[in-house]
Amino acid sequence: MQAEIISIGTELILGQIIDTNAVYLSQQLQRLGFDVFHRSTVDDNEQRICDIFRVALSRSALVVISGGLGPTKDDITRDAVAKVLKSPLVIEPKLITMITQYFNRVRPGHQMPKNNLLQAYVPKGAEYLLNQRGTAPGLFIEKKVSKLNQKRVSRINQFIVILPGPPRELQPMWENQVVPELKKRMKQQTVIKYRVLKVVGMSESAIDEQIQDFMAPESNPEVGLMAALGEIDIRITARAKSESAADKIISSVERVIRKRIGNAIFGADNDTLESVVGNRLRSKNLHLAVAESCTGGLISHRITNIPGSSDYFERGIVVYSNKAKQDLLGVPKETIKKYGAVSEQTAISMALGLVKRTRINIGIAVTGIAGPTGWTPDKPVGLVYIALANANQYQNCVKYKFIGDRELIKWRASQEALNLLRRYLLKLC
Ligand code: ATP
Repeated sequence: MQAEIISIGTELILGQIIDTNAVYLSQQLQRLGFDVFHRSTVDDNEQRICDIFRVALSRSALVVISGGLGPTKDDITRDAVAKVLKSPLVIEPKLITMITQYFNRVRPGHQMPKNNLLQAYVPKGAEYLLNQRGTAPGLFIEKKVSKLNQKRVSRINQFIVILPGPPRELQPMWENQVVPELKKRMKQQTVIKYRVLKVVGMSESAIDEQIQDFMAPESNPEVGLMAALGEIDIRITARAKSESAADKIISSVERVIRKRIGNAIFGADNDTLESVVGNRLRSKNLHLAVAESCTGGLISHRITNIPGSSDYFERGIVVYSNKAKQDLLGVPKETIKKYGAVSEQTAISMALGLVKRTRINIGIAVTGIAGPTGWTPDKPVGLVYIALANANQYQNCVKYKFIGDRELIKWRASQEALNLLRRYLLKLC
């Protein structure tokens, strides 16, 4: 069943507020099994609201409108809907009582402005939705419409839901009143569920090659790829009659994808590299220290973004200058002189020095050229060395050549450092 969203408000069009209602409603509608193909934004202009509403009605079984239900002159959603549906606005006496009671509760001792009562008007035949957090009631309209399908005319139910703009009013109204009502009235219920598998260290095209056979459009489950910074999401979307049936569809495909992609999958859904690595360090009772040059503390920042990271994160130091590398990590002056601050030898010396001085199980060190300055022909922008050492003198150093601006290079370096640590903890390197 097709649903669409219309967000009403000049402030949305002017970019003064962000349309979080549309994002929220899209997610909610998909969860209920609706296909959302269109979202529109329109300013507080009756003609334009009518135009977009007519288009929505011509193609969608459910139209959800947000905003413009207030008592002021620019709140014209009710009028526009009444005009398009050819249902005159009629006063709903129960709403007068409710609006007055709400006003007296939140503004005791004040006289309610008369224009608040405009909100008691509803298009004839519409049902109202209670607003626990404001005076503007929502509206729920169900109507029968004729639909031409392969030269046959059938009568179908069409739903129109109109909600107040403020998210704190819209969301409880949607969840507590609209969702149960829609579930009751829709004959066939489809559930849509997602699973996101997170991949690091593989390109989009390499993943595509491995799982192409699952990626046909309109299949069930549908599998798609989404590239994020330094990682790729494999999104598996299933439709079914129930949550458990959707879960079954997802897990059968997930099993095969995991087999094919293997250890490059580092987590699922809300996992991040730092949360995955943190959990592993904690479960193995290991402690980590990080020495950062070109990443300037970003790796430590990401690790400490995870609550409870003090269980496994001992310290992070930013050793930006050569002197800092020598003073704080004991990197020999000669090593820097002979090989340069950005070199395998310096990176390893940093990691070993870190482990030795902190007496910590694992040390990670990063040195590189984030650019745009500071490069030479044999040491270009994006050249980064990441070294990992442990208390038993294990050492591993990987050379990278990242592409991008300064911030992107720093991010990619932090991503690879966390991935190197993850692979070490999985005994893959
Ligand atoms: P009110 O009674 O508050 O006037 P309303 O239904 O008329 O309710 P609007 O006047 O359209 O709502 O918007 C009121 C406020 O709600 C906006 O100033 C904004 O803060 C918020 N709002 C409106 N639409 C959206 C939206 N699509 N996404 C996020 N916030 C919104």
